Amino acid sequence: MTRRAPAGQPFAETRRALAQALAEVDGALPGSIVVRHMRCGKLRCACKADPPVLHGPYIQWTRSVRGKTVTRFLSEEQLEAYQPWFDNARRLKDLVAKLEIASLQSFESAEDSTTTTPSGRSMPRRRPRGGA
Ligand SMILES: [Zn+2]
Repeated sequence: MTRRAPAGQPFAETRRALAQALAEVDGALPGSIVVRHMRCGKLRCACKADPPVLHGPYIQWTRSVRGKTVTRFLSEEQLEAYQPWFDNARRLKDLVAKLEIASLQSFESAEDSTTTTPSGRSMPRRRPRGGA
């Protein structure tokens, strides 16, 4: 077991665990999956029977590409094969958010709070009220 961060450093253990989890992600697919069962337009079809036998499943993979929604249909085999990567995309966001929080906590505890005061440059200048 290797320990690089100084012992007792707050959140070092948390950051290491998160980094390790991130390293295990070997694929991530963006977007969301919706599985639909549908009725068709034919009058005499099993999907109109009682009880109805719906068509499907239709597995829709929707994602945004440069602001446009792109939909693609997947087979059940494809969904099964790629489900871990869809799960990973969500997991990645979660891990990154947690790593940012842990890193901010590390920063805050390591740095003098007086040095973190924002400079005048980063503060938005207030406009006088009532001015034209
Ligand atoms: Zn039908």
